[in-house]
Amino acid sequence: MDERHRRFDADKLFRLKSEHSGYKFCPRCRTELEEQRLDGVLRLACPSGDCDFIFYQNPAPAAGAVVVTDDRILLVKRAHPPKIGWWCIPAGFMEWQEHPSQTAVREVKEETGLDIRLKGFFEVYSGSDDPRTNAVLILYLGEAIGGELGAADDAEEVRYFGFDELPDNIAFASHRQALKDYQERFRKGRS
Ligand SMILES: [Zn+2]
Repeated sequence: MDERHRRFDADKLFRLKSEHSGYKFCPRCRTELEEQRLDGVLRLACPSGDCDFIFYQNPAPAAGAVVVTDDRILLVKRAHPPKIGWWCIPAGFMEWQEHPSQTAVREVKEETGLDIRLKGFFEVYSGSDDPRTNAVLILYLGEAIGGELGAADDAEEVRYFGFDELPDNIAFASHRQALKDYQERFRKGRS
């Protein structure tokens, strides 16, 4: 395990999330931030007269794709914290200029080596069990159209699973729910 992984402290990150992400000083003018009740929410605001910085703690948007081939779903084994060695649907955080559909295609390529085409929208989930940040997960339905399956980037292993052999250690509640929802909607009546 490398140094960065050893330093990853999930309990500490969960605590910081509940303390305005641990932020203390204005990123614009370095004044110490103060708690203020704004729009009914306790937020950090810069008290300096000529600075209007307010820290809005928003969930981070992420996107990914449910890729199913021959009734088997593509999953990724995580190579980085949190939840190293746990499985999840290929997905990742959006870059600033991206549309979530671009994020989904990019993340699947980066983690699994596969080129996919999006067939449609699947579902959106809200998650609070990632110690780094709360997240909004936007999932599409995808279809592999090329590339070569192989773990890369944030993945330790990638493979297709039959729905009767899904691993128990699925990393996040939103991913577990998505696996349930997919089977409800697209596999009803199948054995
Ligand atoms: Zn300021």
